[in-house]
Amino acid sequence: MKALTYVEHGKFALTDKPKPSLQDPRDAIVRVTVSSICTSDLHIKHGSVPRAVPGITVGHEMVGVVEQVGSEVHTLKPGDRVTVNVETFCGSCFFCRHGYVNNCTDQNGGWALGCRIDGGQTEYVRVPYADQGLNRIPEGVTDEQALFVGDILATGFWAARISEIKAEDTVLIIGAGPTGICTLQCVMLKEPERIIVCEKDEQRRQFVRKHYPEVLLCGPEDCEDFVREHSDHGGADVVLEVAGAAGTFELAWKCARPNAIVTVVALYDEDQVLPLPRMYGKNLTFKTGGVDGCDCDEILSLIEAGKIDTTPLITHRFPLSEIEKAYEIFENRLEGVIKIAITAE
Ligand SMILES: [Zn+2]
Ligand SMILES: [Zn+2]
Repeated sequence: MKALTYVEHGKFALTDKPKPSLQDPRDAIVRVTVSSICTSDLHIKHGSVPRAVPGITVGHEMVGVVEQVGSEVHTLKPGDRVTVNVETFCGSCFFCRHGYVNNCTDQNGGWALGCRIDGGQTEYVRVPYADQGLNRIPEGVTDEQALFVGDILATGFWAARISEIKAEDTVLIIGAGPTGICTLQCVMLKEPERIIVCEKDEQRRQFVRKHYPEVLLCGPEDCEDFVREHSDHGGADVVLEVAGAAGTFELAWKCARPNAIVTVVALYDEDQVLPLPRMYGKNLTFKTGGVDGCDCDEILSLIEAGKIDTTPLITHRFPLSEIEKAYEIFENRLEGVIKIAITAE
């Protein structure tokens, strides 16, 4: 089968690999119907994910059909349409039992697929702990509607969940890339008083304007003033930092009112400074990144009910055989790309 492989630092290539087989009774083999490219794939390509193993098949956003299950898989059977979770988790260790599945203590716990073990930009993928890592797609939900459930949508949902958003809140979301938009949709479900999105890219701002006209928009330069003007207590009650760009961490805490919650969703390339003397007395609560992707069934129900729709994010579609072209577009942000769906041949 064809598989997009992490060859070495700076190089991915479409190579031939044998079809995966069950290695553990809790494994399932999934035939991938649609996958997508994530910014984290680019991080692997450019060496900023040191634990990524050369030779692995990349890709951790995918949906498909269960082809085969091990003898200890109980919730799924061949033929089931499923979303695949970016995270591998055992479901029984201390962290899993508390819902902190990102910190599962299994040797493959956390983000393994398409990083430390073969992922989904291919035809078939082996999913460990299939009872945990796969969620059945409801009948009325299409593959494209479900495509982001296991990764960026799980991230947005988790971020909104831990941010303790209340009805009277002004919520600031920094960054309107794909994960920022997923976060926005999940924050909207909480129905806060107002939502402000800060984004510097004009194309992304247009996307927000078009699809979410009720949201207030600003850029990073005027963000602090804008938030102060459009909030009731001198700053945002909740800030979700999804951009991960230079200066956006500082922007996040500066735009927060005293006693606000600042949720850091972003993955930074570099260490960030927490200037405690400058924020002394502001009494902020910080929550830091690392999605616990354990709400996928709930997310799928919300999609089925028409309350979440991420299909407008899919701006491009390519068959697997043309995935290298898709990467070129995604990596260089050509043609107004947001997300690309990679389909089986
Ligand atoms: Zn991702
Ligand atoms: Zn675990």
